[in-house]
Amino acid sequence: MIMGYVDEGYDEEALELAFQMQRSGIEPNDYTFASILIACSNISVLEKGKQVHALIIKAGFESHISVKSGLVTMYSKCGSIEDARQTFDSLDKGDVVSWTAIIAAYAQHGPGIEALKLFGQMQQQGVKPDHVTLIGLLSACSNAGLVDEGWHYFNSMDKDHGIEPTVEHYACIVDLFGRAGRLDEAEDFINKMPLKPDAVVWGALLGACKVHGNIELGKRVSECLLELEPQCVGTHILLANIYAADGRWVDAVNVRQIMKDKGLRKQPGRSWIEVQNTVHTFVADDKSHPQSREIYAMLDRLLEQIEEAGFVPDTNCVLHDVEEEQKEYIVSHHSEKLAIAFGLISTPPGTSIRISKNLRICADCHTATKLISKIVEREIVTRDANRFHHFKDGLCSCGDYW
Ligand code: ZN
Ligand code: ZN
Repeated sequence: MIMGYVDEGYDEEALELAFQMQRSGIEPNDYTFASILIACSNISVLEKGKQVHALIIKAGFESHISVKSGLVTMYSKCGSIEDARQTFDSLDKGDVVSWTAIIAAYAQHGPGIEALKLFGQMQQQGVKPDHVTLIGLLSACSNAGLVDEGWHYFNSMDKDHGIEPTVEHYACIVDLFGRAGRLDEAEDFINKMPLKPDAVVWGALLGACKVHGNIELGKRVSECLLELEPQCVGTHILLANIYAADGRWVDAVNVRQIMKDKGLRKQPGRSWIEVQNTVHTFVADDKSHPQSREIYAMLDRLLEQIEEAGFVPDTNCVLHDVEEEQKEYIVSHHSEKLAIAFGLISTPPGTSIRISKNLRICADCHTATKLISKIVEREIVTRDANRFHHFKDGLCSCGDYW
């Protein structure tokens, strides 16, 4: 039943059931724990994850290698790369699953170079990588901008490891070139690939077109994507964003009209934070939280302080054709800013704040969070749809490359 909930995306229900099981005195086994850890990973609840870890130790399953690998992934996905590493280091001898888990963790959190180092150590210990390990390794290269290294690993997959690249590995390479701004090479690579490019491959290139402001290529790529997945909301939004960032409002509005005609709606942005075992979720401009007044007072104070420090709101992500002042109001009330403000008023000074977001973090929130981390002297860890950002002392671990 717990696994069924997890498979269908009912992670909170899965956890509730797990704690109910514990209260009723039924001993979980390693399979139960594996499912519970996946539920914690999916919704990024570190406090609950730690409680589950304690239960695992109590039940005597900590030395089970599959449970340990699950713990590594859980800690990583809940935003604590330190705990993930500690758990991994406590293994006597890792297998391919645990090595892959820690490599994927560094791919998501950075520094990417650490993933490469671990990959070398893994081979020294005689553990053979599989195709999932390579996906982790290639995305580490991509997230860290290590283009030459990524290209080298991709080309050695078959030769050195006997792993034939799948379409997922090809997508990693498109992402690798695309993020680094080498859009022509990425497109050329797609045209020459021996497999049929899927939506993930094209999507990686479209994302790069957005980051690097290449409208013409972006248009072409989105046509390929819409042919594959005509109902994909993300493609429409990205295309509209590409136009909007270039000030082409008419085109942006047209894309939105097409979405409307097709009956497509943008998934609302949501951010959440776990405080004292409770998950608090916010949408943009949310006033429903019982501590709403304090949250907004904190947020206003923060915005004032970062503007004094030279912050200029970046309203490019706002698609609506509205006045600049209105746009600034919209971005300043994004869900991640509300979650951070709530985190600040409800956790002790100096502690890290961990928030999660269902979409990619926008450029305005990214810059604002960097400055906030410096002003309040806290580490702020944000998990967005793509990766982790560790904001500290005015900088982000992604190096503004996401
Ligand atoms: Zn934002
Ligand atoms: Zn970042």
